[in-house]
Amino acid sequence: MHGNGLSSILPGRKPYKVLVVGGSYAGLSTTLNLLDLCHGKPTRFSLAASPDLRASNERIPVQITLVDERDGYYHLIGSPLAFASRDYAAKAWTRFQDIPALQTPEVRCVQGRVTSIDCQGKTATILETGTNRQIDEEYDYFVAASGLARNWPSAPQSLTREEYLQETRKHIKYLENAHDKIVVIGGGAVGIEMAAELKLAQPEKDVVLIHSRSKLLSSEPLPDEYRDNVLSLLHDSGVETIMSSRVVNILPTELKGGCAPSTVVELDDGRNIKASYVINAVSRYRPTSSYLPPSAISKDGYVRITPAYDVSTWPLI
Ligand SMILES: Cc1cc2nc3c(=O)[nH]c(=O)nc-3n(C[C@H](O)[C@H](O)[C@H](O)COP(=O)(O)OP(=O)(O)OC[C@H]3O[C@@H](n4cnc5c(N)ncnc54)[C@H](O)[C@@H]3O)c2cc1C
Repeated sequence: MHGNGLSSILPGRKPYKVLVVGGSYAGLSTTLNLLDLCHGKPTRFSLAASPDLRASNERIPVQITLVDERDGYYHLIGSPLAFASRDYAAKAWTRFQDIPALQTPEVRCVQGRVTSIDCQGKTATILETGTNRQIDEEYDYFVAASGLARNWPSAPQSLTREEYLQETRKHIKYLENAHDKIVVIGGGAVGIEMAAELKLAQPEKDVVLIHSRSKLLSSEPLPDEYRDNVLSLLHDSGVETIMSSRVVNILPTELKGGCAPSTVVELDDGRNIKASYVINAVSRYRPTSSYLPPSAISKDGYVRITPAYDVSTWPLI
């Protein structure tokens, strides 16, 4: 850690305190890989074993605090299926307390939100979920793995597994009760996946994907051939598409007893689509970096970092 190699670690040294913010892909893999390295083992996520480390019996004392607003690891990439299938939804969120690899005295999981860090004093302020207690957590090393904050339907808005299961069930119930079309707005990655997973999980439903441009994935740097293939795969799966049309209005109509309320989706070309359920899948996200010092953040709120992952332009880092 301090660059002198494993053999230089003095026995009896106080554990290095590592604070990891975010327990998703980046934060969880950092935590577990770090544990492996500190145990003198090759990292579990690397394909190639590291002979140097495997040969070592040295252990580096470490105390990792993993902080996340959620009470568990959520498989974000699976969101489109989690919002279409009850069985899958139950598999996509695992509470940190149920992840065997984290059940070691070297890891402490805190459910809460990091609100600020003091880089000079090496202290982070955590607002603990539930109690609203403010915790001042000291660290030797700080890992910012808080990703992006995403709106529904890209990500569930719940912070506990229990609430998340209710959130997905409520959504799936609407889909199951839909007698008219289910409209997904936005032919980006999230909209395409939502439409396709929905049709896969509930093949009897009429699913329509509306996109304002002539090609799907229009804001991604992809060749047209790829976009055309995606469109044809969507059609093969039974999803109907309406291209080059913009939704201008969504008007609620009558409530049907026990069923999802119907709505009329108005398009800019004058067409109207009667829908039981409308999912706005135009991706909306925002940075989560507000806890970092202003000097570390760009004007758009993203972490200032070079293409070589250099953050040395930050003071005190
Ligand atoms: C529907 C969908 C499908 C996708 N499909 C793919 C794909 O197929 N392939 C691919 O490579 N990428 C895909 N992505 C993108 C991928 O999900 C992200 O790149 C990835 O989630 C980034 O991981 P991360 O760990 O950096 O951050 P995130 O997954 O954003 O996780 C950040 C974590 O930090 C926590 N957090 C945030 N702020 C705080 C705070 N202040 N205090 C405490 N905790 C905090 C959050 O609760 C969250 O658990 C997809 C994204 C979506 C939405």
